[in-house]
Amino acid sequence: MRHILDPDSANLQAWLADQGQPTYRARQVEKWLFTRRATSFEPMSDLPRSLREALTAEFAIWTSRVSKIVRSADGTEKLLLQLDRGGSVECVLLRDGARRSICLSSQVGCGMGCRFCASGLGGFQRNLTSGEMIEQMLWLQTRLPADERLTHVVMMGMGEPLANLQNVLAALDRASSPSGLGISPRRITISTVGLPAAIDRLAKREPRYHLAVSLHAPNDRLRNELAPVNQQYGLRRILEAADGYFEASGRRLTFEYVLLGGINDRPEQARQLAALLRGRPMLLNVIPYNPVPDLPYREPSRAAILRFQQILEEQGLVVHRRRRKGADIAAACGQLRRSSTSPVSF
Ligand code: SAH
Repeated sequence: MRHILDPDSANLQAWLADQGQPTYRARQVEKWLFTRRATSFEPMSDLPRSLREALTAEFAIWTSRVSKIVRSADGTEKLLLQLDRGGSVECVLLRDGARRSICLSSQVGCGMGCRFCASGLGGFQRNLTSGEMIEQMLWLQTRLPADERLTHVVMMGMGEPLANLQNVLAALDRASSPSGLGISPRRITISTVGLPAAIDRLAKREPRYHLAVSLHAPNDRLRNELAPVNQQYGLRRILEAADGYFEASGRRLTFEYVLLGGINDRPEQARQLAALLRGRPMLLNVIPYNPVPDLPYREPSRAAILRFQQILEEQGLVVHRRRRKGADIAAACGQLRRSSTSPVSF
């Protein structure tokens, strides 16, 4: 069966044309899926019954099922999805004031091998299809009451989005399109470990989204250790590509820095980081490490976090300290999947 969310609407349109249906039917189906949150074709009451039956016979809406839902005291919800095509991924809904942000996965597993991250521990399994990413959006949207809308999307779940660029862009197109979720591209962020060639491609093809680059170290020696993929490129080339993206997009860059206690949280490292980044229109997101069982890394002390932030601010950088949301539900990427030995079915 074909996945209705996977072929772009042109394919649905072609199928509808074969059925002798007017072209506006595709819009109607999309509206039911994205705006009215239909989970089957049955309730699509402005479509003829025979068409609903034909759609049901031809297309699947879901190729994943929610195998676990955990809700944090702060309102963060994390879903574990079991995929028909194999594997499982996590996605998260974060509630913050009026914001309703979702964090999506782009791959099953991850091939980047960042030492401190749970997602990469089992290695890379496969890229998600665009439909599998859109399903994450729709599943998370069903967690909201009818009068609330999703406002932000971040590609910060499992996987490296720029290693699956084509499918990620197709999915984000549905997130931003008025006939999809209608979320402004300014509220959509792609987070990358820093793959320069893919950043260059993104700048050429689709510089509408925010780019976040995960740095975690102020020099190549330490970064080669923490994020081994750095050995292939080096910080200079990565920053060049990020600057190129800024030129193409006009959007302020975000750099992410996961603070690992005793590893990358020292004052001289903060100074080195400030020197590395100075002069760019950018925001630095400092994220205290969320410990992963079996990995040797620890949270930074409160004093180290504050000192690190203070040094960067004194050097004129705009720093944002990410509050830990959903820490009690293992909301850092890859942790739920790992801890989940007996998924609960819903
Ligand atoms: N591969 C992409 C996106 C996925 S991870 C990237 O590297 O940016 C999203 C962010 O969460 C990255 O900055 C990643 O380094 C960080 N992260 C991974 N594990 C974490 C942990 N246990 N605690 C805090 N942040 C973590």
